[in-house]
Amino acid sequence: MPDAAGHLPFYYGSISRADAEEYLKLGGMMDGLFLLRQCLRTLGGYVLSMVYNLHFHHYPVERQLNGTYAIAGGKAHCGPAELCEYYSKDADGLCCTLRRPCNRPAGVECQAGVFDNMRDNMMREYVRQTWKLEGDALEQAIISQAPQVEKLIATTAHERMAWYHGTISRDEAERKLYSGAQPDGKFLMRERKENGTYALSVMYGKTVYHYKIDQDKSGKYSIPEGTKFDTLWQLVEYLKLKSDGIMAVLKESCPNSCTFSIAPAAAPPSLPKIRQAASNSDGYTPEPFIGKSRILPMDTSVYESPYSDPEELKERKLFVKRELLLIDEVELGSGNFGCVKKGVYKLKKRQIDVAIKVLKVQDEKNVRDEMMKEAEIMHQLDNPYIVRMIGVCEAENLMLVMEMASGGPLNKFLGAKKDVIPMSNIVELMHQVSIGMKYLEGKNFVHRDLAARNVLMVNQHYAKISDFGLSKALAADDSYYKAKSFGKWPLKWYAPECINYRKFSSRSDVWSYGITMWEAFTYGQKPYKKLKGTEVMSFIERNERLACPAGCPPEMYQVMLDCWIFKMEDRPNFDNVEYRMRMYYYSIADKPDKEGKEAAAAAEASGKV
Ligand code: ADP
Ligand code: MG
Repeated sequence: MPDAAGHLPFYYGSISRADAEEYLKLGGMMDGLFLLRQCLRTLGGYVLSMVYNLHFHHYPVERQLNGTYAIAGGKAHCGPAELCEYYSKDADGLCCTLRRPCNRPAGVECQAGVFDNMRDNMMREYVRQTWKLEGDALEQAIISQAPQVEKLIATTAHERMAWYHGTISRDEAERKLYSGAQPDGKFLMRERKENGTYALSVMYGKTVYHYKIDQDKSGKYSIPEGTKFDTLWQLVEYLKLKSDGIMAVLKESCPNSCTFSIAPAAAPPSLPKIRQAASNSDGYTPEPFIGKSRILPMDTSVYESPYSDPEELKERKLFVKRELLLIDEVELGSGNFGCVKKGVYKLKKRQIDVAIKVLKVQDEKNVRDEMMKEAEIMHQLDNPYIVRMIGVCEAENLMLVMEMASGGPLNKFLGAKKDVIPMSNIVELMHQVSIGMKYLEGKNFVHRDLAARNVLMVNQHYAKISDFGLSKALAADDSYYKAKSFGKWPLKWYAPECINYRKFSSRSDVWSYGITMWEAFTYGQKPYKKLKGTEVMSFIERNERLACPAGCPPEMYQVMLDCWIFKMEDRPNFDNVEYRMRMYYYSIADKPDKEGKEAAAAAEASGKV
C-alpha cells in the first residue's frame, strides 16, 4: 500500500536504527523527542524511535491484518499519524509521552525502501500489461490510481503463491497432499470448478480436511464462521498464526511446481476481462464495483486519446468532416455561445461518443474567433484529466467536437449525490483535477476559468477539466498573461492580482483551484453566497477567507488556505498542490473504511486480532 506515513514531516522512510539515533542526537536529545521510520523486517510496519533520559528507545509499530497499526500490546490505531497523536497525550507503556517531533532537516528526503522499489516495479508492470499503456499515460495512471492498482495486485497475489494450485479437483488435492511427508498443517489452496469459489485443503493426523472459502457480498473471504479478509493470501497468513477454528495451524505449503515466485518484475496475474466503461447517463454507477473491483479511469474509453492509436493519428486534422459526425437532438448543456449537443463521431476504426459545442450566432466574427481560439488551445492538450478536443467542424454551424464526459459538471454531480459520495471520493477527484492542472502549468497554459462548473465527470471516480474558452498559451519566457481590459469574469474564482492588475498565471489558477476544492468539499455550494462579486475583493483584503466546509479534513482545508495566499509569489504551484493532494489521497485510501473500522473493533473485542 502507499506509505501511510509518507506525508509526516517526522517520517524518515527506510533508515537504519543507527541513522535514526544520529538524527535524534542532531535534534537535541530532549525527553520525548521522536521520529518514525520504516520497519525493515516487516511489510507495512514502522518503528517509533525516541529519546528519554538521554537514552534511545525503539518501538516496532505493526500493521495488522485489518489495516490498523499498533505497538505490541498497545491499542490499535487507524494510521501511524493517529498512533503518534495518541502517544503524545498518553505514554501508555512507552518511556514517556511523545513531546516533540524530530522533523527531517531541510533537504533530507524520505528514504525509499527495498519494498517500495519492488512495489513500484510491480505496479508499473501491472499497469503496462493490463491496460497496454506506455510513457506519460502509464505514469499518470500510476500516480492517480496507485491505491486501487495495489488493491488489484493484492487481490490477485495468491495466484503467484506456491500454495495456490488453481482449479484442481478435490481428489487431485488429496493426491498431492498425501504424496511425500504428511506433517500436520501441510496445506494447499485450490479453486473449485463448480462456481469459481475457493477451498483450503489441510493435513492433520495424516488425514486431509477440506474447507470451503466463502466470499460475502462485499468480496471479503472467510472460512465459514471465521474471520473475514480482503484477500486470500491474508487469510492464509492469518491461519499460519491462528487456527481460527480449522483442524491445524497452517505450516508447510504443498508447493505447486507451476507457480512462479514473487519477483518484482514477474508477469502480473491476468485480470479478468470484466471491465468496460459502464455507467449510466449521469456518470453515476450506483454499484461502482464490477465484480470485485471498481472501474478505473484506465478502463474507460476516454483515458487515452483516440489519437494515441498511430493509425487514427495519421488521419487526424483540425477540421473534421461533417459526414463523419452524427448529431443527436439531446442537449447536454448550454452557454452564451449556444448549446452543447450529444453525438457520435466515426473514427477510422471505431465510433466514439462526443459532445458538440454548437455556435449559435454565426455571423459575429469575434464569437467565431473565440471558438477557434478555444479549439486551438484544446488541440495542443492531451491528458487523461482534461477533456480532449476531437476537432472543429464547419457546417450548418461552427462546431467544437469533444470527448464526452457524460456525468455533467462536478458541482451538480456532488449536489445530487451528497448522501452517497464519501469525502475520500472527493479527495480522489480533486487530486485528478490537480494532475490535469499540473500538466497545464507544465505546458505554460493558463486556464482562467477553473471552477467546479467546468470540471466534468466521466463517472463517479473520474473527472476532467473542461471549458478552455478563457484560456491562454503563454510565451515560453512569460510567467503571466495580462488582459487588455476587463471582461465578463468569474470574480469569485479570481486571485487578487487578476482583479487588481489583470495578471493571470498558473498561480492565479491555483487560487481558482482552491475555490474549486471548496465547492467540491461543500458538495457543490456557491462560494461567498452572501457577497456580490465586487464585494469579494474587500473581504479578501480584510484577510478573510471562505470557512472550512463541514466535515472537510483539516489537511484539505490547509491546502485551500495555501491556494488563497494573497501574494502570488508565496502561493504554492500545481507541482506542490498535486503532491500534497496525492499524499493525502494515498494516506486515506489506505485506511479501513468506517465499516472496516467497526469490523476491526469487533474482532479486537472478541480477541481475534
Ligand atoms: P461555457 O463556456 O458556456 O461555460 P462549457 O464548455 O462549460 O461552456 O459547456 C457548457 C455545458 O455543456 C457544460 O456545463 C456541460 O454540461 C456541457 N458540456 C460541455 N462540454 C462537455 C463534454 N465534453 N461532455 C459532456 N458535456 C459537456
Ligand atoms: Mg463553463
